[in-house]
Amino acid sequence: MLLLNPGPVTLTERVRRSLLQPDLCHRESEFFDLQDEARARLLDVYRLNPAEWTAILMTGSGTAAVESMIAALVPARGKLLIVENGVYGERITQIAGQYRIDHEVIRHDWMQAPDPDRLAAVLDADRAIGHVAVIHHETTTGRLNDLHALDVVCRQRGVRLLVDAVSSFGAEPIDFGGSIAAVAATANKCLHGVPGAAFVIARRDALAQAASRTYYLDLGRLARLQDQRNTPFTPSVHAYYALVEALRELDDSGGQPARHAHYAVLAEQVRAGLALRGIASALPADQSSVVLRAYRLPASLSYTQLHDGLKALGFVIYAGQGQLSDELFRISTMGHIQAHDIERLLQGFAALIT
Ligand SMILES: *Cc1c(COP(=O)(O)O)cnc(C)c1O
Repeated sequence: MLLLNPGPVTLTERVRRSLLQPDLCHRESEFFDLQDEARARLLDVYRLNPAEWTAILMTGSGTAAVESMIAALVPARGKLLIVENGVYGERITQIAGQYRIDHEVIRHDWMQAPDPDRLAAVLDADRAIGHVAVIHHETTTGRLNDLHALDVVCRQRGVRLLVDAVSSFGAEPIDFGGSIAAVAATANKCLHGVPGAAFVIARRDALAQAASRTYYLDLGRLARLQDQRNTPFTPSVHAYYALVEALRELDDSGGQPARHAHYAVLAEQVRAGLALRGIASALPADQSSVVLRAYRLPASLSYTQLHDGLKALGFVIYAGQGQLSDELFRISTMGHIQAHDIERLLQGFAALIT
């Protein structure tokens, strides 16, 4: 079965085999070597300077990393502004509410891009806001939000960005040079690891002022202990094995730019192939990520018919979320997917539509 959903991904044999390495006690030096290598390699994906940045690992899915980042990096009496244009932005608002973090929201329609002018207006009207949370790749629609445009607005005002890069880290470019204080992501999307390991990449100076609002996901404590080659709880050792192997494989294959290029070819192959079969993209290609794209369901098929027909051929596609579920379907090209796989997928579409 090939997974065309946005994680977990189809694994390479190399990563799958890494799960069979020796059993490890998480209190032994071998585990801390593994943890150290994962942390160093995560910074290397974007060539980040370890004097300024640190990678904090945790056991959990991508949401754990996002929650940990929000709970720690909005200061104890700080105020957060959340830019929403999909399910994942809305999730950050729920997290902020859960922790009773003072927050404001800029809501956009799910098909809209974040508006930097609205961001500037809200920040200018409320100087208490010190942090802005935004989704890099809004997986709801496949939109790649323009981080640069939001970063410019934040930078001019000394406001820090907290970025959910769960479905972009490792594939899409990210400029860490501006107002970004932290980025949250996971092992099992564009990095091609397995579910169970998530992480936050944070500026060390932001982490130094971290709040402690949660017990298990306390980012400041996780960072402190990991810096001492320690861990507070039992990590998902096997997921860490897979993450390290996936990061080595990424590096061997040319790193993030090469992964971006590979995904871009596949995404264009899907877009062009579906267009030929009368299936339109939900967003223009230049506003979409290379990781996942949303398409309009053909009139002749329900999502269930399309999904089940393709599954019988060995492909798992992904439904639209919430209000978009009867209009859209999604295809992600993350994971171990090649051009010949997409060719077979397109033949499957042709067979189902006619
Ligand atoms: C997948 C995803 C998440 C996290 O989902 P989990 O199921 O917790 O891994 C968060 N944000 C975005 C943008 C995502 O695509």
